Amino acid sequence: MKQGIPDKIKPFNFAKKGLIFSQKYQLKDFPRISSLVSNINDPIDVELSFYLENEKIPCIEGRIELDVALTCQRCLGEVNIHLKPNFKLGFLKNEQQAEELDSSFETILNTDEEWSTIEFITDEVLISIPMIPMHSHKCVSYKDKKVKEQKRENPFAILKQLKTRNLESQRSKNGRTKK
Ligand SMILES: [Zn+2]
Repeated sequence: MKQGIPDKIKPFNFAKKGLIFSQKYQLKDFPRISSLVSNINDPIDVELSFYLENEKIPCIEGRIELDVALTCQRCLGEVNIHLKPNFKLGFLKNEQQAEELDSSFETILNTDEEWSTIEFITDEVLISIPMIPMHSHKCVSYKDKKVKEQKRENPFAILKQLKTRNLESQRSKNGRTKK
């Protein structure tokens, strides 16, 4: 049976009982993530399954899914990136135990009894965020944009253009009503 994720993870305790948790959070629940993204009200789905491998090594299989809105490092616009960090972690008491787990596991030497769920999920998400977020399409580099802006006519000239365009469209509207 699935239940909400407790605030503290107790790997050995949870693994012994074979507990499965799932919860929908918001990005703003994770201070270190929300300081990087602009979509802090968006959801983040987390599912954690605990079990004992070889009847003694506590393991977590985790699935996280979220969208992050970051600043594209090429055009400085917003870029939305879908993240799906999945992981399989084994918590070892000593390095010898690593031999009992197959290569699909990441292993962590850990003797703590419990730790913060929020910090744990945060670490898994941060690893999956690209170092240099960018649009997948070829957006225009902000450096090129700057050059273009400098070449632009002065703002008053643009204003004048807009005004004449408005007049023209009004004229054509009037023209249509006459018909
Ligand atoms: Zn971009």
